[in-house]
Amino acid sequence: MEETLRILVVDDDDVDRMAVRRALAQAGVKMELSEAGNGNEALLAVQHTTYDCIFLDYRLPDQDGLTLINRLRASEIKVPLVVLTSQGDEQIAVELMKAGATDYLAKSRVSSEALAQILRNAIRVHRAEMQATLALQQLKESHEQLIRKNQELEKQRQQIQLQNLKLLEASRLKSQFLATMSHELRTPMNAIIGFSQILLRPKFGHLTEQQTDMVERILNNGKHLLMLLNEVLDFSKLEAGRLELKPELFDLTTVVNTTVGEMNSLAEAKKITLELDIQLQNTWVFNDPVRIRQILINLLSNAIKFTETGGVWVEIQEISDNVIVIAVRDTGIGISAKDSKHIFEAFRQVDQTLTRKYAGTGLGLAIIDSLVRMMNGKIFLESQLGIGSLFRIELPRQISPKSGAGKIPALNMDGENIFFSAHNPHHSSSPPRRASIRHTNLKL
Ligand code: ADP
Repeated sequence: MEETLRILVVDDDDVDRMAVRRALAQAGVKMELSEAGNGNEALLAVQHTTYDCIFLDYRLPDQDGLTLINRLRASEIKVPLVVLTSQGDEQIAVELMKAGATDYLAKSRVSSEALAQILRNAIRVHRAEMQATLALQQLKESHEQLIRKNQELEKQRQQIQLQNLKLLEASRLKSQFLATMSHELRTPMNAIIGFSQILLRPKFGHLTEQQTDMVERILNNGKHLLMLLNEVLDFSKLEAGRLELKPELFDLTTVVNTTVGEMNSLAEAKKITLELDIQLQNTWVFNDPVRIRQILINLLSNAIKFTETGGVWVEIQEISDNVIVIAVRDTGIGISAKDSKHIFEAFRQVDQTLTRKYAGTGLGLAIIDSLVRMMNGKIFLESQLGIGSLFRIELPRQISPKSGAGKIPALNMDGENIFFSAHNPHHSSSPPRRASIRHTNLKL
């Protein structure tokens, strides 16, 4: 051992102490050696000095080695302890080791080799023990740290859960408020619409041209407001899971023709074309005609609203016996890929400023999304800024009679039901058409 070791020899016999000192010196141990003649002196010495090893005579005048070891260990003094026993003391060696002795050696066997060997071993064992204790301590500390972290995380989780509950409650209250308000506003709005219609009838007396113009404006604005209110009401019903589909067997061409016909005046007012192309071998579907009409009106009013030049095309076709496609294509402003991800979320509009050019609640697509989900259908969107958009909806020819019962899990787009593409909408990815009976090809 290269380092200088601090060694304490505890023995009342001068000769024995000298024997140990000499043996260690002969072994070439570099050391600072201290000596104590009894147990109390030894206890005093260890309080002031940290030793690398203590050689301890088992038989001391004031106490035996076992008592001293017990007292040393009780005072948390961790030092290698080698007990030097007399002939016949070996039987108690086991007791000594149990009490905390590192090793023992019979005095009769003390030699430079034996002492050096036992010293090296004792120090090695002691250091290994110290390292193990340290590692254990560190492990305990990191374990405690982990427990603390876990407790913090658990606290945070509970806080988040609480926040979530508060948010859910706030959202429920908001939906309830929306539903109540739109419901309450519909009654006076219906009166405004009804009475303006009555005023416009000639049998209630003639209005001047200016008065007619004013009443017509009241009527048109009233209708527009009623449509917005209905959207809000539908949305809150969908959110609360209270909207149910009422499926029935009906001729899809009739509903589509009427709906597209009704939207024609809007297209005309903007001087854009509106064309309808229905290619169906079987025109009958089992679905909710009111909701199919609502989907078409929403898509068409958007297409017309966001198109300044060019036109809007509606295509109805079947891609298999059981799947019907409703596609609305326009040459309008288009939607960027970034915005496409959000426009199906409620209240989301590409332009959300108050000064925006295009009016609307931002609920139309969210409602379509929910309705299509309820019908077990899919929505595909292809769009390119400045070129136009194509909304393509695939629906089963026959929806399940129970569709719509229960709450729709999410009104928002979560990628599950809507498929986006930023391709040129004029090169639609729809499959090639089958030979089919062309019902209509209207230039409206
Ligand atoms: P609203 O039309 O009432 O704003 P929607 O939910 O129907 O709400 O549409 C959400 C947004 O999606 C619109 O505000 C618009 O930014 C965009 N959008 C929808 N349809 C089209 C379309 N055909 N062309 C361009 N943008 C569209």
